[in-house]
Amino acid sequence: MGYLWGDLMNQDAELLGSVLRIERTSIHDGEGLRTVLFLKGCPLRCSWCSTPESQLSYTEKGYAFDLCLGCGKCIRSCPEGALSMSEDEPKVLNDITKCKKCFICVSKCPRRALKSYGRLMSVQEAVREIIKDEIFYFHSGGGITISGGEPLCQPDFVAKILQECRERGIHTAMETSFYAPWENIEKILPWLNFLYVDIKHMDKKLHKYWVGVDNLQILANIRKTDRSEYPLEIAVRIPMIPGVNDSDINLSATAEFCRSIKKLKEVELLAYHRLGIETYKYLGIDYALKNLVPQSQEKILERAVFLSRQNLGVLIRVGGGFV
Ligand code: SF4
Ligand code: SF4
Repeated sequence: MGYLWGDLMNQDAELLGSVLRIERTSIHDGEGLRTVLFLKGCPLRCSWCSTPESQLSYTEKGYAFDLCLGCGKCIRSCPEGALSMSEDEPKVLNDITKCKKCFICVSKCPRRALKSYGRLMSVQEAVREIIKDEIFYFHSGGGITISGGEPLCQPDFVAKILQECRERGIHTAMETSFYAPWENIEKILPWLNFLYVDIKHMDKKLHKYWVGVDNLQILANIRKTDRSEYPLEIAVRIPMIPGVNDSDINLSATAEFCRSIKKLKEVELLAYHRLGIETYKYLGIDYALKNLVPQSQEKILERAVFLSRQNLGVLIRVGGGFV
């Protein structure tokens, strides 16, 4: 599989993480202005995934044939001789046995037909990037949010970053599917102020059908975290996928589960969107929900009203993109 259940070290035994990108001054991933560190690697395969470039744990390159001019600049720039032009069509071929992932070719492409996803980063480098935004946290009550992919695939890397942030007085949050061994979660909870966890479906079989794994470990991890000694707050996020999990039955079952969570602070409905579809093309993988039409804003608000009548006793939010 293309994801890790562990952390990486370089030759000097320095802890490294596989990072997809860093987004600054986000207002959607926790209180105040947030720096969001997106990591690579995820054990789930949600049919609606909007960041397919975060699924594999290693750095990778994408290629959009329909944008390629066939100019050959990438081929000439490669120091490893890893690229060549197909004899049948103006299409660049990549020899993965030669490619060293330096991404020089990506920088030479005049059409952005090539893209790179991810890079390795040390803990110290990640923390240096995070604290560049410290002034914003101070004024807005914000902080760092670790997201994915699945952060729990790199537990030591995440724990060390969160520990360093907490020791500097920076508020910490993490977004996770919670599909992970408890030993990984235990490393992170002491350093976490706020936890965003997805509940994608309450039906075990349908969860497996749409996401690739069932929900038993996820629900058990939420319950165990709720009973833990750590004083963090929990927000449950529900991605609203039309015809998949937005029914009265599934929302009622999710609400029933949420009512049992004592650390629950809020529930957020995330509107389905199709913003990641372009990336599927670059990665040469099929988007499973090609014909799915996003809900209207009115429909999402109607679902939020339905949820608000389930006596959850917490804030109900609506987020995500409407397209
Ligand atoms: S990433 Fe580097 S080694 Fe790989 S094909 Fe591009 S230029 Fe060559
Ligand atoms: S540089 Fe870009 S446009 Fe030119 S051949 Fe390479 S991928 Fe195609």
